[in-house]
Amino acid sequence: MSERKFVPQAELDRQFSICDQLKKEIEPRGLTFYVETFGCQMNVRDSETIKGILTNIGYGEAPDKEHADLILYNTCCVREHAEKRLMGNIGALKELKEANPGLIIGVCGCMMQQEGVAKKLLRRFPHVNLVFGTHVLHRLPEMLAHVFAGDRLAMTGEEDFAIAEGLPQLRDNPRSAFVNITFGCNNFCTYCIVPYVRGRERSRDPEAIRAEVAALCASGVTEITLLGQNVNSYANDLESGSFAELLSLLNDVPGLKRLRFMSSHPKDLNDDVIRAIRETDKVCHHVHLPVQSGSNAILRRMNRRYTREQYLEIIRKLREAVPDIEFTTDIIVGFPGETEEMFHETLSLVEEVGFAAAFTFAYSPRNGTPAARMEDQIPEDSKKRRLYELNDLQAQKTVENNQKYIGYTGELLVEGCDDRGTETMLYGKYQNFKMVYFPGDPSLLNRYVNVRVLRAERNSLIGEQIHG
Ligand code: SF4
Repeated sequence: MSERKFVPQAELDRQFSICDQLKKEIEPRGLTFYVETFGCQMNVRDSETIKGILTNIGYGEAPDKEHADLILYNTCCVREHAEKRLMGNIGALKELKEANPGLIIGVCGCMMQQEGVAKKLLRRFPHVNLVFGTHVLHRLPEMLAHVFAGDRLAMTGEEDFAIAEGLPQLRDNPRSAFVNITFGCNNFCTYCIVPYVRGRERSRDPEAIRAEVAALCASGVTEITLLGQNVNSYANDLESGSFAELLSLLNDVPGLKRLRFMSSHPKDLNDDVIRAIRETDKVCHHVHLPVQSGSNAILRRMNRRYTREQYLEIIRKLREAVPDIEFTTDIIVGFPGETEEMFHETLSLVEEVGFAAAFTFAYSPRNGTPAARMEDQIPEDSKKRRLYELNDLQAQKTVENNQKYIGYTGELLVEGCDDRGTETMLYGKYQNFKMVYFPGDPSLLNRYVNVRVLRAERNSLIGEQIHG
């Protein structure tokens, strides 16, 4: 069991007192921030903490970067060419800085944890004031104090994987919130950069998670999504507890209506978790279960540590325990060494499972990962063709999946609205993640309504509100 580290309360208090000092200067000047987030829910969640800290320092939120006194890019290194795109975005800020020399420009996020990137960025862009990694978010007040004193700095804290509890948050959505349960990852899938930039897996204490969920629900949040790179291995680094126990612990938090989680790793989704999903009434009947490939040979090369057969067995057990459960997944095609036959094993798995939706990718190498150094990389045109074939099959499966909802009525949490010329279409999800569009008034936003599905279109369900 690895030793977890926490940021000491004295250090957090020191940061809070710097906040108080900065606030005296910043609040009277009416300064504003703009945070732009790239990448996954982890980054979205980190940005909420960043915004919370900036609000405590006295900043208000600007509507766009043109009106901001502080611009922060929260970066992601998981996608291909992310670094190149980021450099372009930062270069483009030079004009804003020339127009407003007092503008503070910062760059943070997991890309800054990649070796050498932070220093390179500071060297290349003199208009950037501040660069920092994911592990030192809690030191943002101190970093800004240095920037106000005229310094330019890069802080990544490569070895410092301590958990910081009790940081302020600024969340946009009044009904739905993400809550971290683990940070980092121990799995080292051979294509993935995450364990190198986010560090080894660290679980939060169950009491701290429950307290955060309870506080959110007391403020009106009703839907919580638990976040981790592999939520199923939650508590592997604690003396006791498990992900299944955490689900049960959170299930009776007053005010909570929906409990979601992502992502799951098939190697750790065990019978206890299946039982917890079945026996709790708040845990939603949806599992995002990345399969990545239907070929055992490729799964081995990816270091996924489960087989196609084991994956299908989990799906079977979950369907048996929870009949209305829906599955979504992630799939990579064209991984090094993938033959046509292996690719067809992926297609046959997609056919067999019938995912509600799949996030599909053509493999692209990430510097620093073992797969990037593998021989037998697949030519781009083959990858593209396979991706096209896979998407075509998944589109058929999505239509089939949608068809079975025609005539179904269920409770929907309204998440947004689209103005479609003559009518406004609201959209939201059933508890099992199926999205439905229906005509309605925007005042229903963030409320629960009953909706019956009238028809299935290629990618979406169309319904009507049922009153009473
Ligand atoms: S489980 Fe694998 S793919 Fe997911 S974050 Fe960890 S190493 Fe990356």
